Amino acid sequence: MVDSHGRTVRDLRISITDRCNFRCVYCMEPDVRFAPQESLLTVDEIVRIAAVAESLGVRKVRLTGGEPTLHPALTDIIAGIAAETRVEIALITNASLLSRKSLQAWKNVGLARLTISIDSLRSDRFARVTRSAWSPAKVLEGVQMSLDEGLTPVKLNAVLIRGFNDDEAVELAALARTFGVEMRFIEYMPLDSAHAWDSTKWVSAAETRAAIERVFPLVACSDDDPSSTARTLRFADLPVGSPARVGLIAPVSTPFCGACSRLRITADGKVRPCLFSTTEWDLRSSLRRCATDDELADFLIDATWTKQPGHGITSPEFVQPERPMSAIGG
Ligand code: SAM
Ligand code: SF4
Repeated sequence: MVDSHGRTVRDLRISITDRCNFRCVYCMEPDVRFAPQESLLTVDEIVRIAAVAESLGVRKVRLTGGEPTLHPALTDIIAGIAAETRVEIALITNASLLSRKSLQAWKNVGLARLTISIDSLRSDRFARVTRSAWSPAKVLEGVQMSLDEGLTPVKLNAVLIRGFNDDEAVELAALARTFGVEMRFIEYMPLDSAHAWDSTKWVSAAETRAAIERVFPLVACSDDDPSSTARTLRFADLPVGSPARVGLIAPVSTPFCGACSRLRITADGKVRPCLFSTTEWDLRSSLRRCATDDELADFLIDATWTKQPGHGITSPEFVQPERPMSAIGG
């Protein structure tokens, strides 16, 4: 699948639910409205989309949400995709519902790796940012369990918000060293359901890097995949091959749209060529009209062709998409 700007889609992100048990301040308002249950993709529909996408060159499928581990049939979804395709299957989660048993079950049916979000190491902050009763200690237990189960490389994600957790860059970066993983910092994007994003709450990747470097000098890695969202840095005092790294994902200050290889499917089955698309393509209707695989493939090819050249967040004409990250699938 190639878009009209010459970029090839290799990475599909499927939001398998828009529901979540957290209400992170940068993502969901407490009273966010969810899509009706019947509008959400079924297990068979999700598996079919993955299979058709693979036939068009997709090599990686990331299951996301909302909180994907809330989906009662997550194991069936992973198993179905693994049975029908050879794509790498990854999952991103807030880690609140991880157990050794569930991790083993997902791994056994084909899950390759996991990304875990953690925005603060202080219990009171964590509660304030996620508006949940969960704790950072529990998230870290989930990180260790994921490593123990071999769902590697495990990556960690944090969003720093000024006035909430922007002074925790160093402590969070230190997690990379403790666990031997990549700790990634994502710049806060205007994709929150409250439309409350403003530049005063935003923390740049450069500021984050500078804060970390005051304690841990970093060196840019030369082996970054050009289509990856993260620019990775290693710790200067650790061996070159150490898995402990810092990733900076800077969609606002340093957009990586020119190398984008991603396509997104929302929980209710719409194709979004870009996180910031204001137009969606209704794949679910085609699926439910019993379209053939060739017709679905043509649909994905046409939607991909319309991928916009860039998100234009910093342009005066920028319009925040109606739907939040939790519905689109981050
Ligand atoms: N619930 C899961 C989780 O939190 O990991 C998966 C879905 S969540 C939407 C995926 C990722 O998007 C998380 O790492 C989260 O931090 C990030 N995210 C959500 N809203 C964001 C925003 N407005 N700006 C930047 N990243 C955001
Ligand atoms: Fe839920 Fe993830 Fe959004 Fe937080 S970032 S509210 S955990 S979907």
